[in-house]
Amino acid sequence: MGEEGMSEPVKLFGVGASEGAVVGPAFIHTVEELEPERESISEDEIEAELQHFQEAVEAVTKKLSETGERLRESAGEEEAAIFEAHIELAEDPELSSGVEERIRNLESPEAAVLAVGEEYAEMFAEMEDEYIAARADDVRDVTRQIAAELMVYEAKGLETLEVPSIILARSLAPSDTARIPKGTALGFVTAEGSKTSHVSIMARSMGIPAVVGVGSALEGAFDTETVAVDGGEGYVVVDPDPDTVAEFERKKEVMAEERATLEEFKHVEARTREGRRIEISANLGSADEAEDALSWGAEGVGLFHTEFLFMERKELPSEDEQYEAYKKVTEAFGEKSVILRTLDVGGDKDLPGVDQPHEENPFLGWRGIRMSLETPSLFKPQLRAVLRAGASGNLKVMFPMVADVEELRKAKEILDECRKELEREGAEVGLVEVGVMIETPAAAICAPDLAQKAAFFSVGTNDLVQYTLAADRGNERLRNLQSADHPAVLKLIGDACEAAREVGIWVGVCGEAAGEPGLIPKLVELGVTELSMSAPSIPRAKKVVSEL
Ligand code: PEP
Ligand code: MG
Repeated sequence: MGEEGMSEPVKLFGVGASEGAVVGPAFIHTVEELEPERESISEDEIEAELQHFQEAVEAVTKKLSETGERLRESAGEEEAAIFEAHIELAEDPELSSGVEERIRNLESPEAAVLAVGEEYAEMFAEMEDEYIAARADDVRDVTRQIAAELMVYEAKGLETLEVPSIILARSLAPSDTARIPKGTALGFVTAEGSKTSHVSIMARSMGIPAVVGVGSALEGAFDTETVAVDGGEGYVVVDPDPDTVAEFERKKEVMAEERATLEEFKHVEARTREGRRIEISANLGSADEAEDALSWGAEGVGLFHTEFLFMERKELPSEDEQYEAYKKVTEAFGEKSVILRTLDVGGDKDLPGVDQPHEENPFLGWRGIRMSLETPSLFKPQLRAVLRAGASGNLKVMFPMVADVEELRKAKEILDECRKELEREGAEVGLVEVGVMIETPAAAICAPDLAQKAAFFSVGTNDLVQYTLAADRGNERLRNLQSADHPAVLKLIGDACEAAREVGIWVGVCGEAAGEPGLIPKLVELGVTELSMSAPSIPRAKKVVSEL
């Protein structure tokens, strides 16, 4: 951080969540803590307050669906989908029953909804999957809106924005970003958040720079008038001097030129100069993201996370519901390959319907394939849904957290069992190739044996890095140990590629490293032939490959 020297402007570092460089006036968005007007109610108020709560839920749902509709027209499906997910949260029967129980115990409805919201949010926040953990903010956002409705509280601020500005805030919820008048947000800077928080998703789809996760240091900058934001490098300059402003102007020009060049790479097939074909695919969190990924030039789906279907609700999805979701994404991609990863939740995630033990060390616990193999009630319906959806396109399946060849053997055995069952039932099933994620050092070391039983490998660098370097992937202090660009990690990826080559199967990478321009040449050199990443990173990855 550059605070040395009198004239040196203060630089704050965070996570680059949406590319671009901008200098502009700062608009500080502070949220007043929403305190319940009353903590308790009397016995004779119970019925009226239960009614009051239901009305507030309906009012919030109505507002959310209006905002969703507006965004569907003005911004796109992805933004609208956020509001649909919020409607589901607002109408969640467990949330309602939790609040109603508290009201019956004489808690005021506003205190009850805030408390239940916080309980849920904490449960989400503890989950190790960054994407799911980010949903904690959604729960807080929705329950705050219901509490605000109950107290006839009008949140003010962002909707008053007139001068195009860079918005600085502790965090920005979807309901905040939706209130910003069109064209007035030049960038976002938040103290909290990760690349997969909604503020980051919003910024990327609005095409404005964002730096998130700056930490509490950002609050020290809340008296600033101007800021410069570099959403690619992930830093912010507070009250930039003329030299910094000039530097940012140059960056803007370079980026504008780069964006224009990248446009032409969106829909090309990525090949190295020698003609080696590298498939550039997208990582998807839900079937609704398929169209957007295709528009960025995705040549397939390298990782379809199935966790959301399970986590964003309070009961397990049925086989049919899973089938519909898997079929939707498979059909959207037609002949292109879609790789679905079976459920990857860990011992710290409270999955409804599954008896999960408390674990001292969930990262090293009962997660991924370990849990699936021991929970046929969870695993079999998922595999049956996959096999059925496989009939509508080019669907493949892979297993997470494999550390032992025996796990792959058992998983394939269960898959075969499901196939036979379905055939007996006369259901239509697809071929569905089976792959393994290489995300434990054990899997990379045992790659020669795994390769005998798999149709492909997909390297999960996020976990492979944390397990190889013994560095918790979520610990901000260990940033220098959180890159796949480490000899030990590259050695393991190289070993897996070598083992795959021996038997003629292919290797992809679906962790964050796949979209990092600096790492792509190394991965390709090691023998990787598929790279799967967040959709907006696709055009640049294609360009990098084409220059190799
Ligand atoms: C990985 O570990 O690299 C991966 C892709 O899986 P996740 O990030 O979901 O653990
Ligand atoms: Mg992983």
